[in-house]
Amino acid sequence: MTKILCFNANEERIPFIEEWAATHKIKVDYVSEFLTLETVHMLEGYDGVTVAHVGDFDSNLYPILKEMGIKQVAQRTAGYEIFDLEEASKNDIIITNVPSYSPESIAEYSLMLGLQLVRKSHQLDKKVAVRDFSWTQDIRARVIKDMTVAVIGVGHIGLLVAKLYKAFGANVIGYDPYPKAGLEDIITFCDSVEDAVKQADLVSLHMPAFKDNYHLFNDEMFKLMKNDAYLVNCARGTLVDTSSLLNALDAKEIAGAALDVYENEAPYVPGNHEGKEIEDSLFKELLEHPKVTFYHHCAYYTDVSVRNMTQFALDATLEILQTNDTNYRVN
Ligand code: NAD
Repeated sequence: MTKILCFNANEERIPFIEEWAATHKIKVDYVSEFLTLETVHMLEGYDGVTVAHVGDFDSNLYPILKEMGIKQVAQRTAGYEIFDLEEASKNDIIITNVPSYSPESIAEYSLMLGLQLVRKSHQLDKKVAVRDFSWTQDIRARVIKDMTVAVIGVGHIGLLVAKLYKAFGANVIGYDPYPKAGLEDIITFCDSVEDAVKQADLVSLHMPAFKDNYHLFNDEMFKLMKNDAYLVNCARGTLVDTSSLLNALDAKEIAGAALDVYENEAPYVPGNHEGKEIEDSLFKELLEHPKVTFYHHCAYYTDVSVRNMTQFALDATLEILQTNDTNYRVN
């Protein structure tokens, strides 16, 4: 009987693992440990493996996995930059990821952040907390129908975001190096990020982070934005130079930002730091800034995402075990 082992499987994954195992009549076990040189022996007797690595994946594991007869490693998230794909291929190990587990989850959440900025929910919360029920200009809002929204990166998530804002009646523009045809009723593509950003009342980021777009949103980019424009980032923290963002907010170059990601979030997210000092002074400043809403990389975190991440990785594993290939492969 085919046997699969899921590493670093936390409690919330277990029902989805068991559901998949029952449906496919495959033996699937799970352990809480990460797959490392110390734990690789746990794979003895198994045919396939899924992981959800966040830190580096030790390249010395590939020859060991090959020696053990393992053909693949299925990452349960979209990110696979932690794997040395060349080393994996050299050892005939197929690496897979789950590129799109629920674009709706991230798109709806991005819209929520946009609405919070536009309707000034942050300021409303503060007023109600001190029982100030007055109508003052700091809580007077705008209407999305009257706004131009720029979606940067129009892929699985960006396109859904564009459709959501379009449903509110916004003028939706955007930039993508590979603009898709046939979307004229939803979005108008601009020739550059700068071109889109200049026109926008709200900028929503949905592109992947690469070396060449590191700190794309820097001093120069913020100067191009309208002074009353908002920034929403549910993509990757490194797209935004946090110092420049804080300066732009203080200099009133832009009106506010809602972020689901921060460029140096890794030591803190996920994790409970209640009562502990935040040692990263930039992060602290961001968290305390009155014009910033920050959440801790929760856009993806829905029931359907957790199910799909768990089960699509198992699908990829089984496909490789049965056919030696899968569309989920990244090497
Ligand atoms: P996708 O690959 O479907 O779409 C990305 C789009 O960005 C593509 O159309 C691509 O052509 C475009 N793109 C590439 N480089 C660009 C650039 N320099 N400028 C503008 N556009 C560019 O990916 P997706 O599934 O829509 O995910 C988008 C991003 O969302 C991911 O890369 C990830 O960073 C982020 N994400 C965040 C969460 C979260 O929980 N916050 C969860 C999942 C994904």
